Amino acid sequence: MIGIMKTEIVKIHIKSDGVGIEQQDQIQKAGHILKEGGLVAFPTETVYGLGGNALLPEASQKIYAAKGRPSDNPLIVHIARHEAMEEIAYPVPESAYRLAERFWPGPLTIILKKKDLVPPETTGGLSTVAIREPSHPVARALILASGGFVAAPSANLSGKPSPTNATRVIEDLSGRVDMILDNGSVGIGLESTIVDLTEKIPVILRPGFLTLEMLREVLPDVTLDPGIAGADTAAPPKAPGMKYRHYAPKAPLVLVEGPAQKVIAKINALAAEGEADGKKVGILATEETERYYSKGTVLCIGKRADEESVARNLYECLRRFDELGVDRIYSEDFPDQGLGQAIRNRLTKAAGHQVIEVS
Ligand code: AMP
Ligand code: MG
Repeated sequence: MIGIMKTEIVKIHIKSDGVGIEQQDQIQKAGHILKEGGLVAFPTETVYGLGGNALLPEASQKIYAAKGRPSDNPLIVHIARHEAMEEIAYPVPESAYRLAERFWPGPLTIILKKKDLVPPETTGGLSTVAIREPSHPVARALILASGGFVAAPSANLSGKPSPTNATRVIEDLSGRVDMILDNGSVGIGLESTIVDLTEKIPVILRPGFLTLEMLREVLPDVTLDPGIAGADTAAPPKAPGMKYRHYAPKAPLVLVEGPAQKVIAKINALAAEGEADGKKVGILATEETERYYSKGTVLCIGKRADEESVARNLYECLRRFDELGVDRIYSEDFPDQGLGQAIRNRLTKAAGHQVIEVS
């Protein structure tokens, strides 16, 4: 039953060669759990994943139950060799091989038409399947030890920010999975970019660490799904998961957009108003701006000049606000290009589209 099973927590260390794993026996044990239909949470380079055997319907059902995730929200199947695509998808277009060659292993998920081997439980009933080959050595070793196909959404309770370290996974999933592999903090901190290759024109369904510009180097005609926040919000997003409120802290979050000086002034005014009302106000600021805030509980998300640092800290900051017990959060915005596109997408979703524009 959910919430009362015994969860084994195992620390995993990567050898200094960056490839091998010190605790091979524990990886084999974790692989065995997956083969038998159990659940193992594990680190990937993007965020921690909640893994189950992608080819077993009951394992996918357990994933949905453990996360409290709506079952129409499909799972990403993780593989450890490019060619494994051919075992679960057909046709595999030439563009998929080109993307794999360039970006795998790495933070890219490719949507293809699925073969019958993949049960509908794994794909939320869709006839397509999402496939990614992660680069994290623990993820790769686990996939190989498990038979090669691991369905793994982010290892958080549905709706909460994705976990970027094992402590957050333990908070959310202890008692709900068989094993948690703890390898500390992940490197990227934002989920993979999802690109759909099942239509004539390739479409990015979820912005991620790999930017539109980077994908265009391989697929010049790739476009952004208009349903993604920031573009035409009237269209529903094509990745089922993108329609839910998501990545959200407990307190309501409001994104304030506009020129930097005006944004800071507005957030200061809103914080003063909130505090006058007796509320505890959280402010999500950056290294460049944090000193301009005189009120509220200010967390620094990273450096604007280094957007990768913002990506890495985003979810952890949102979870910190939960712990600090703030009543509302105001966040600065980020440029709608490059990696900023994915950061904005996650913040907008965390804000449930509550955006204030100042000009
Ligand atoms: P997560 O693993 O928690 O990052 O969520 C996986 C994301 O991939 C969700 O937004 C899903 O809706 C999306 N996804 C997975 N499979 C498909 C698919 N076959 N077609 C479209 N989107 C998908
Ligand atoms: Mg997720």
